[in-house]
Amino acid sequence: MSILKVARMGHPVLRARAKTLEPADIKSPGIQQLIDDMFETMQEYQGVGLAAPQVHASVRIFVAGFAPKLDDEDEDEDEDEEERVPLMALINPEIAIVGDDTADDWEGCLSIPDIRGRVTRAREIKVKAYDRRGRRVEISARGFTARVIQHETDHLDGVLFFDRMQSFETLTFLDEFGKYWSRRDVPEE
Ligand SMILES: [Zn+2]
Repeated sequence: MSILKVARMGHPVLRARAKTLEPADIKSPGIQQLIDDMFETMQEYQGVGLAAPQVHASVRIFVAGFAPKLDDEDEDEDEDEEERVPLMALINPEIAIVGDDTADDWEGCLSIPDIRGRVTRAREIKVKAYDRRGRRVEISARGFTARVIQHETDHLDGVLFFDRMQSFETLTFLDEFGKYWSRRDVPEE
């Protein structure tokens, strides 16, 4: 496995619509390798999600989830059930919004490092996709997991979280975020 270079805002690959994968191609060694490398890259940079265009591969794949932490003392007390994101690799995801409840919360992006901003997203979604073995899956998600899936799926359409902000007033550098806004860690994705 290898750690891949992450494309930063301004690279055209982040603005392109990524290509749909044929189900038969999902199990190919090249795609399996890409998925392994994306997990490793996401974990290296302590992200909670990573879409293939962010590693210069314009195909409709993203990985997400928190890696097991080795030295987080207050993991058990602090981590709300809704804040946990299960490990997943989804291919050709299609999101359906459930209800009209929205949530406004902080986001960060590995392609826009050290910046945070508030984004309004649907609180609950259903996702149809393929898993890495090429099987159809349907996932229901709410809260932070639903937010991450929406952020990653946006990457497959060339959309960045800045595009989703209703106002830029909350755009914040990470240092100032910690000083003035919140002590909570908001992982990049
Ligand atoms: Zn991102």
